[in-house]
Formats: sequence, C-alpha cells, structure tokens
Amino acid sequence: LKNDLLDQWDRENFFHPSTHLAQHARGDSPSRVIKTASGVYIEDRDGHKLLDAFAGLYCVNAGYGRQEITDAIAAQAKELAYYHSYVGHGTEASITLSKMILDRAPANMSKVYFGLGGSDANETNIKLIWYYNNILGRPEKKKIISRWRGYHGSGLVTGSLTGLELFHKKFDLPLANVLHTQAPYYFRREDLGQSEAEFVAHCVTSLEEMIAREGADTIAAFIGEPVLGTGGIVPPPAGYWPAIQEVLKKHDILLVVDEVVTGFGRLGSMFGSDHYGLEADIITIAKGLTSAYAPLSGSIIGEKLWKVLEQGTDENGPIGHGWTYSAHPICAAAGVANLKVIEALDLMNNARDLGAYLKGALADALGDHPHVGDVRGEGLLCAVEFVKDKDDRIFFDTSEKIGPQISAALLAQSQVIARAMPQGDILGFAPPFCLTHAEADIVVAATVQAVGAVLG
Ligand code: PLP
Repeated sequence: LKNDLLDQWDRENFFHPSTHLAQHARGDSPSRVIKTASGVYIEDRDGHKLLDAFAGLYCVNAGYGRQEITDAIAAQAKELAYYHSYVGHGTEASITLSKMILDRAPANMSKVYFGLGGSDANETNIKLIWYYNNILGRPEKKKIISRWRGYHGSGLVTGSLTGLELFHKKFDLPLANVLHTQAPYYFRREDLGQSEAEFVAHCVTSLEEMIAREGADTIAAFIGEPVLGTGGIVPPPAGYWPAIQEVLKKHDILLVVDEVVTGFGRLGSMFGSDHYGLEADIITIAKGLTSAYAPLSGSIIGEKLWKVLEQGTDENGPIGHGWTYSAHPICAAAGVANLKVIEALDLMNNARDLGAYLKGALADALGDHPHVGDVRGEGLLCAVEFVKDKDDRIFFDTSEKIGPQISAALLAQSQVIARAMPQGDILGFAPPFCLTHAEADIVVAATVQAVGAVLG
C-alpha cells in the first residue's frame, strides 16, 4: 500500500487514543506509520529512523526487536494460542510467570491475577478491595484516595483515580467514592518558602485532614505510583512515603502501589516498592512485565487480602471476577521470555547506571538555562521542566504549548522522541533499558538543540 493511501484510511477510519480528534481528521496533526524497530530505534514507512527515548509509552524496557521474546511468542502461538484460565485452568507459561513474579515481588505478596493493561488491573484492584471490606462486614469502608497528578488508567473507576483534569472533563468523572489529595510535587509547591521537609509535612496534614473529614471508617485504600509518572515524572521528596504509610497504617487504609511504570526495573530496583520501602497490599504491574511485546498486566495481591478473598469464596461461591483473556498464553510466554532477557543481560543495572548518566548529563547541559526550572528523575525515568521565569518560578501559559513545541523540534531536528508530558511544560525521558552512553549523548545534544530553537 502507498503511504498516502494509508494516511487517508487512517484519517477516515482510525480512532486514535489520546489524540485531538478534530485536528487529526482535518489533517492538521501529523500521522506516522511505524514499520519496524530494533534496540532503541523505531523506523517508519518513509524510512525515518527515530531514537525512541520514551520506549513507546515507557514500556519497551527490554528494547525493540528482541528475538528471544518474539521466538517465545511464536512458539507459544504454534503450540497453544489460547485457552482460558477460569476454574483452575492454566498453561506452563502462565503458571511459570506467576511463580517468576512472586519470586521477585516483596515477601508479603501472595498471588497474581492477570489482566491485559494497567487500567483493567487497577479496576480489578478496586473491586477486590470492595469485596474484601464487604466480606469483613464493613461495606461503608469504600472510598479510595488517589493523588492529583496520579495516573492510574482511563476507564470509569481508573479514569476517576487519575488525578488529571483532562481525564475527568466532560466525562462526568470522578465517580463517587474517589477522592484526590495533594501531589508530592515539591517543585510545584504553592508556598515557595517551604523546605522539602515542611512540604512533606503539608502533604501528610492534607491527607490527615481528608481522613478526619470523611471518616476513616469510610476509606478503603490509598493508591499511588512510587514516582508520579504521566502527571509529570516527579520523584517524591525525601521522607514522603514513610510518613504517608504511617498515616495509612494508623487508619487501617490499604495501600495500592501502582507499579505499571516502575515495575521490573525502571528505577534500577525490581520494584519501586523495594526502592522506597513501600509495604503494599496490592501492586499493579503491566508495561515492563512483557516489555509490551504482548498486552499483559497483573494485580499482585498481598497475603492479608488473599486470606479474606479465600474466605469470601467459601461463603459466596467462586469469585465473580474474570476476563476471557486473563493469563493469555501468548502474553504469558512473552512475559517469561522478557524477564529472562532482562536478567540475562543485566538490563536493570544498565537502567540504573544509564539513568544516572542521562539525568546528570541533562542537568549539566541545561541546568543553567534561564527557562529550565527543574531537571529530575529516578533510575531511567527523568524529566526537564520549563518555566517562564526561573527566579520567581512563573510557569508558561499552557496555551503557549512550550513542552509540545520542544518535543516537536526534537523530532524534526534530530529524530529523537521524548514525551511532552500531558500537564505542564515537561519533557519526559524513559528510554529502553539497553540505552548506551553514546545514545544518551545523542539524546542530550538533541534536547539542548531543541530547547535552544524554541526558547533561545
Ligand atoms: N497506571 C500507570 C502508573 C500508568 O502509567 C498507566 C499507563 O500509562 C496505567 C496505569 C494504565 O495502563 P494502560 O494504559 O495499560 O491501561
């Protein structure tokens, strides 16, 4: 097929997610047909080779084109493309993967429920938490606290949990029983005179006040990403997680740690929970579980919940929750092969080393720029935030679209992909773990050039 015909069919037929639909239909926004990929590079049908410094949507952790994973997918498809996992059925791949995940997860984790993406996994989590409290005879303990700028998916419940206005506006969200508290975003604190410790104390007080206002007996769980992702790539200030956990424990509020981005090595630790000493009751996993070679997510359920879920089925019959594609054999085979590749090639340690290198190089090259307000990150997940006035920390008006302009310049001038994060003027970097020093240098030089082109 000719590229211009594909472009026409695309605009006529394809409903793209997270896209300005009217602009796209009019042909005012770019379309690109991706053909193949290898390592950190993707290639389009026009022959452009682009360095993908965001690993798709921070998910292709093992890098593109890994034959060990594609071979495992092909072998599984040939042997058994599908069977369901209801009422005790499994496959060698799904059972092996559940063991591999539990072997690597924090010690209190007990079972894995498999889904397809991060949104449905978080949907599962909330259902299981409600089931848990109903079995314990406290149906009023139902509300879920999330954070502004948290991202947990875009379904009805998960879009409600997501603390970004775009995901609520005109969708009649958030649903009842979902509350949002202060984001641990020190750079965007309201009171510029606050120290980091004072800001953490403010986050804790806001949470305490919300719990007091609503009543602890109405609050079931708190959900958070170890490092805020889509809301701006923001590592928490020192002491944030221990202080929040103390509050949750005091009020018997469960902790759901959403590790869709951080799970399986992105922070240089197997889980963000290990990295920050989090004691989760449920951990959400997706993206890095298969490096996106096939859609697979999971809810890793802690022992405390599991015991009650088991009790619930003795009282009520089989758990009334299941997806046709839960533990799909092809996806599970991709997961097994992916974890083996990551470990055999020591990619997690490379992510840690290259993450420190990339963040350091971005800070060295851009830290003194008059419009660079913050360079931050953890592991191989980092961001540069742009401001209008650095001394007084005045932000650009969103209508100026500085972040999108810089990412567009980066792509046009240097064929490097970094993500303009959806809120604020923030350029995000989350390359595949196999990134080399030379590739990191290309990303930094290209970013400096794009920043210069847009902001001088
Ligand atoms: N949770 C987090 C932390 C995410 O970053 C995402 C997606 O980016 C999701 C959940 C939703 O995952 P999915 O898009 O696979 O539904």
